[in-house]
Amino acid sequence: MTTGVLALQGAFALHEQVLRSLGEPTVQVRRPEHLDGLDRLVIPGGESTTITMLAERTGLIEPLAELVRSGLPVLGTCAGAILLGSRILDGRPDQRCLGAIDITTRRNGYGRQVESFTAQLEVPVLGPPPFRAVCIRAPLLEEVGAGVEVLARLEGRPVLARQGAIMVSTFHPELADDVRLHEHFLGVDVRV
Ligand code: GLN
Repeated sequence: MTTGVLALQGAFALHEQVLRSLGEPTVQVRRPEHLDGLDRLVIPGGESTTITMLAERTGLIEPLAELVRSGLPVLGTCAGAILLGSRILDGRPDQRCLGAIDITTRRNGYGRQVESFTAQLEVPVLGPPPFRAVCIRAPLLEEVGAGVEVLARLEGRPVLARQGAIMVSTFHPELADDVRLHEHFLGVDVRV
């Protein structure tokens, strides 16, 4: 089993660290050939406009779009959720997303960097205790489609959701000092 971590920009290193602490081999994905043979993929937080631009420049965007729609288990956090979603509000006019999960994200929907915050989040699939959700210029999940399962809410708003093998969080689980979300993701069935 190998988990790819998209490593174009952003918080990829800590995702790798958490996955490795769980005994999961990881590969940094920077070019199309790095997608070969992956069993799972993590798309980290960072700056979604920059990640998308770099994915376009490196020729990754098309194979990535195909892969994330193929049934491969993918975890997208923060900017990664924006990239995996189907519609973006307050994005750049030409900002692409991959349409792997039926959500509309609003970039920086909780406000600017100074309005970043941490919250204790009840996540039923992880069980107690609450998960420490670190939100850094997080997107708002404005709409979630009927086929999307909401796994956690913060003040009524979805912050963790899943559709098939695609899971997204608006927060940064790699900063939580808590491996439960990654562990849960590693338990998602891989494509046959
Ligand atoms: N605001 C960033 C964006 O729109 C996401 C922030 C993050 O990933 N922590 O891409």
